Amino acid sequence: MNPREVANKQFDIAADVIRLDAGARAVLKSPKRVLKVSIPVRMDNGEIKVFQGFRSQYQDARGPYKGGIRYHPQVSEDEVIALSAWMTWKTAVMDLPLGGGKGGIICDPKSMSQGELERLTRGYARAISLVVGPETDVPAPDVYTNSQTMAWFLDEYNRQVGHQEPGVITGKPVEIGGSLGRDTATARGCMIATREAFKAKGIPTNGATIAIQGFGNAGSFVAVLANEFLPGSKVVAVSDSHGAIYNPSGFDVAKLVEHKEKTGKVAGFGGAKEITNDDLLTLDVTLLVPAALEGQITKDNAAKIKAKIVAEAANGPTLPEADDILFKNGKFVIPDILANAGGVTVSWFEQLQAKTEYPWSLKLVQERLEERMVKSFHDVHDASKKHGVHMRTAAYAVAVDRVARALKWKGY
Ligand code: NAD
Repeated sequence: MNPREVANKQFDIAADVIRLDAGARAVLKSPKRVLKVSIPVRMDNGEIKVFQGFRSQYQDARGPYKGGIRYHPQVSEDEVIALSAWMTWKTAVMDLPLGGGKGGIICDPKSMSQGELERLTRGYARAISLVVGPETDVPAPDVYTNSQTMAWFLDEYNRQVGHQEPGVITGKPVEIGGSLGRDTATARGCMIATREAFKAKGIPTNGATIAIQGFGNAGSFVAVLANEFLPGSKVVAVSDSHGAIYNPSGFDVAKLVEHKEKTGKVAGFGGAKEITNDDLLTLDVTLLVPAALEGQITKDNAAKIKAKIVAEAANGPTLPEADDILFKNGKFVIPDILANAGGVTVSWFEQLQAKTEYPWSLKLVQERLEERMVKSFHDVHDASKKHGVHMRTAAYAVAVDRVARALKWKGY
């Protein structure tokens, strides 16, 4: 199943639950606009290489398009469209006045120099500058893009429009208008939702074990924050694109982060056993946090998952066929559009700070994130009980209903 088919299937299931009318169904199954761009970049060896980039603007009935930019060799038009659909449902499930968009460039950032990445980012910013803007479409970081990428994008956009426009992008460095707490927001939001799930299911946090797939922005901060939100828990397994490690006694997370920074991988960390990425997903743990890429939990491994709670820090890690298996086996899945929505929520806080030119304290950011995440978790949990469906379909039901209502007011 390609990601777009996954997104459409998830949408159809929820549309049936809320008995969505045919008009809204048709409108909400396609992006409003997809821009495809070719970006010529002079590489360090003097050669010109042309990269393919995309910006998908899925739906803006509730507000400006919003969504990250991904740099990865496997980026495709369908993946970007699916990710932009998920952003539409994510901003709606959090009740933010935003729509959904997503961007991506087919490239291998790990094999590129900083200079090449800067020229690529500036080229992409020039290519899509006509369709983005603080009131139109606001990009942010995603896989293999970061605050430096956002800073280059902002600077190039400012040069294009001839004035400073900090609200055109979020996830910027704090020194140039970024929000305090944006770097840890996805993980913090994920841990707030996970804490609520432990409470709702009556599972004690003391002694809980955690496996995390992916140790980048989302995954590494989940590990760092685990004990704050799940007191007495321990992170026993982590992975990255190079491999996975396991230690049933739990890791010293601060030392693990240091090790990853120094060596570029989690493998080789003292006292840990090396396991495969597949093994990590099926470990006997209390909580599994997929925090890498989509399509990881499939019909082939879903029945082997032993974790009681799955918190999807990543976008699209579980295929629809696996959802039913997990649900039947009594697993509680906090779906991506809820579990990782802390990132876009603090991105919206960053937009508000840009509009008012008034920076918020870290305390204020964290308090408002807490409030939003708790409310959205319970909106979805209540809908799940009301409709007798799992949390993903419930999250979609809440989100699709909100977008469809906005669409109707505006006349489609
Ligand atoms: P990142 O680039 O910082 O980290 C990605 C991590 O995944 C890296 O550690 C990489 O080594 C690892 N990885 C890649 N392939 C893997 C594999 N096959 N097995 C195990 N690990 C693998 O990216 P990120 O920002 O942390 O994003 C991770 C996921 O979270 C993505 O699905 C992204 O869309 C989602 N997400 C991120 C944010 C955010 O604010 N960063 C917000 C919402 C959702």
